Amino acid sequence: MTKVTTPAVLGLFPSGSTLNSAGELTIGGCVASDLAAAFGTPALIVDEQALRARARQYADGLSQRWANSLVTWASKSLPYTAIYRVMAEEGVGVDVSGGGEIMMALAAGVLPASIVLHGNAKTDDEMGLAVKSGVGLIVVDNFDDIDRLNRLVPIGTRQRVLLRVIPNVMPDTHAANATGQAESKFGLSFPDARRAIGLLRASEVVDLEGLHIHIGSQILQTEPFTRSIEALQDLADLGPFATYSLGGGLGAKYTYSDDPPTVEAYLDCLIEAARRVLPSTARILIEPGRSMVAEAAATIYRVTTVKRGSRTFVGVDGGMSDNMEVSLYGQRFEATIATRVGGGEPCVVVGRHCESGDQLIDGVELQNPEVGDVLAVPVTGAYCLTMANNYNGALRIPIIFASNGAPRMVLRRETYDDLLRRDLP
Ligand code: PLP
Repeated sequence: MTKVTTPAVLGLFPSGSTLNSAGELTIGGCVASDLAAAFGTPALIVDEQALRARARQYADGLSQRWANSLVTWASKSLPYTAIYRVMAEEGVGVDVSGGGEIMMALAAGVLPASIVLHGNAKTDDEMGLAVKSGVGLIVVDNFDDIDRLNRLVPIGTRQRVLLRVIPNVMPDTHAANATGQAESKFGLSFPDARRAIGLLRASEVVDLEGLHIHIGSQILQTEPFTRSIEALQDLADLGPFATYSLGGGLGAKYTYSDDPPTVEAYLDCLIEAARRVLPSTARILIEPGRSMVAEAAATIYRVTTVKRGSRTFVGVDGGMSDNMEVSLYGQRFEATIATRVGGGEPCVVVGRHCESGDQLIDGVELQNPEVGDVLAVPVTGAYCLTMANNYNGALRIPIIFASNGAPRMVLRRETYDDLLRRDLP
């Protein structure tokens, strides 16, 4: 009997992705090549059930370990109303960065009280919008935020805030993704934080509810998280505080060799440290972004050219307009032809943009790639569509929910009319 082996790449697609009887990739019960035919390419395919399962895993996992807690999804990772709605339905709050994300969260029906506002350079407008909308917590990043709050919060009312402090922890990740090191542009050093706490406690319109830390993104070890929580002991003499937000940052599994901690191992690590160094009465917030959405999605492209020479260049109809993770952080992705899943010929997958740097994957094995094939790239749920752009007049791509065999478009593709809509005569 021939042994049927499951191609390794399948393990990087949302859990539940399979091969159908014809050997074709299915995501959320939908055949990837059918999705391409029905909705066009490129498109972000989100397995809705995988997205919901991860949200529940986080929400249940945290509340089981620390009852007085809330997961606030870092919505910058995939800020579209359909995703906000899923998170709200699964009992998850949201963190927003800026006015646009506040508006999208509110439009999706997220309760203002469950919103946390971030930003290292907030404007008066954004701060005013947050206060007026009843955003639950504003994270103070600097002394100008304190001035702004004192000016913008109406006398007789009070805005609850957290203070972001720098824990002096440098995790092993891309430098652009590290945020908790001594020279970070985010938050205040401990000496400055002491001064800010004094000012916030003296304010007539602010309630300082607690402290916030966040050390970066795509972190694949638990130990830096532990150190960042331990660092909060520096301010223990000014506490206890009612709330501590421990940030986000857990990495996703993009490649065969990535081995991120499981959500359970990550939560175990956070709560073990919290039990040792934080008051038992405190409320704990966490802000995962990438690890909540990355692995629930994949991008499908159409192969537009195959150029064979010293290397085989497989060109697709997207690229750095829908995935900046490669250009910005050198993030490695994997891929497969959707109708012939698995490896074969070493290829370079390149985008359609006018830069040699527009390479999606350097060195990936594809099976006999041909023009017209659908190429599927897994683990593109986080920060890819968020940073999408119109380079070379590219149209930003749609989101298709695939759920138990039923596809549903929740964000349409941009049109040429959209590109021209803001032009004035
Ligand atoms: N919290 C803050 C303040 C952030 O800046 C970010 C993103 O870097 C996150 C949470 C989410 O991080 P991640 O998507 O890596 O979980």
